[in-house]
Amino acid sequence: MRPQALRPLQDFLRSSEYVRASRSCQRFISKAPRRSLQQPRYEPPKPPPKDAKGNDPRLARFAKVFGIFIGISIAFAYRAVKGTKGESKTSVSADGFVKYHLVGREQVSSTSSIFTLRVAGTTGLDIDADALQRAITSVQLKQPQLQIARSYTLLPPLPDQRASDIRLLIRREEGGEVSNYLHRLPLAAEIEVRGPSTEYVLPQNVERVIFLAGGTGIVPALQVVKVVAGEADVHVLWANRRREDCQDGVSDTVKPTITWTSTLLSIVSPFGGSITPTQPREIAATTTPSPIVTHLQDLKASGAGRVAVDYFVDDEDTRMTLKDATKLVRGSFSTATNTNDRKILFVSGPEGFVKHWAGPKVWHNGVEVQGPLGGILATANLDGWEVVKL
Ligand SMILES: Cc1cc2nc3c(=O)[nH]c(=O)nc-3n(C[C@H](O)[C@H](O)[C@H](O)COP(=O)(O)OP(=O)(O)OC[C@H]3O[C@@H](n4cnc5c(N)ncnc54)[C@H](O)[C@@H]3O)c2cc1C
Repeated sequence: MRPQALRPLQDFLRSSEYVRASRSCQRFISKAPRRSLQQPRYEPPKPPPKDAKGNDPRLARFAKVFGIFIGISIAFAYRAVKGTKGESKTSVSADGFVKYHLVGREQVSSTSSIFTLRVAGTTGLDIDADALQRAITSVQLKQPQLQIARSYTLLPPLPDQRASDIRLLIRREEGGEVSNYLHRLPLAAEIEVRGPSTEYVLPQNVERVIFLAGGTGIVPALQVVKVVAGEADVHVLWANRRREDCQDGVSDTVKPTITWTSTLLSIVSPFGGSITPTQPREIAATTTPSPIVTHLQDLKASGAGRVAVDYFVDDEDTRMTLKDATKLVRGSFSTATNTNDRKILFVSGPEGFVKHWAGPKVWHNGVEVQGPLGGILATANLDGWEVVKL
């Protein structure tokens, strides 16, 4: 038996009113857009994929971005703090000058000193680039009040020296603008430096080198000896006005005192030439060797017996003569290996010194070039030798 409560509902379902309502409802559904009928079924969100270790990769991505952000922030903060002290900025001016500090000045004589410069910022000049390994290089130092600059040749680095430090031998010229300015500067002063510039690149196949150096012209000789020590025969003849500039320098082939033997025999060069000073004098003993002489001796020691140095001092009347140079040119070198290799005679020093020996360098289209061979070397037979003016 059906329950009494359901009877009114059953009556309604059978009634014509219900049948009409249900038909119009079906019509409405059939006119409705199909898309609404094909709605996907609701599915709960899938859990994010995991990496091999079971970690959420979105977390790893977030950690990476956050780490980079923190790193950049620290870098900016560091620069800001250091920048306020004016220490970390590498200030390269529009004309290529970089700021250095004068961190050392070692007196060599009453007129010249070795200056040590250290870069003020983080990046200095590229002075030890591979391309410069066989080059004679110099830098320019600025006198800021007059806005003029002068060239100074780089001393070869010492074994215990910071690679980025610059060392220069600077003579104080009487009445000279830049050299006097530099000698007056206190330690820690700022100096603007530009370069390096290449004066000459040594070829690979050098057999013999003769170096006629006057005063600070010894610095390029130090660079050359450092490069070719052990691979070529090098003879340096170094002339100075006063002994103090080459204190303790003892000649390898020039005898220091007049003895009966030196008047009878000329002193034979280890490379075959012979040198006799015009008026040899006693070389005063001293306990303070010039740092340049010490440097030369150290380089000589690395030259496997193929480096010789002779000193000439105006005040002692031991002047370098043409005969001294030409004897070396003609001398037969016992260690010579290949006669096709290059023989180079360098003349390096103040303008007057270079002019006296090899004639002046000349200007061509705004550039200083070698010019023809002149001076007293032009009168000598230098067959097979190149002469280079520095
Ligand atoms: C490639 C290169 C490398 C060098 N390397 C070195 C080095 O390693 N060490 C070094 O000490 N030097 C070196 N020099 C020389 C250096 O560049 C300077 O020339 C030197 O220091 C003198 O410069 P200054 O400004 O002091 O003298 P400047 O002011 O140029 O004067 C030079 C001389 O001329 C005189 N003079 C100036 N004006 C006049 C005038 N109107 N009339 C008459 N006389 C005048 C001055 O009294 C002084 O004696 C190098 C030069 C070159 C080109």
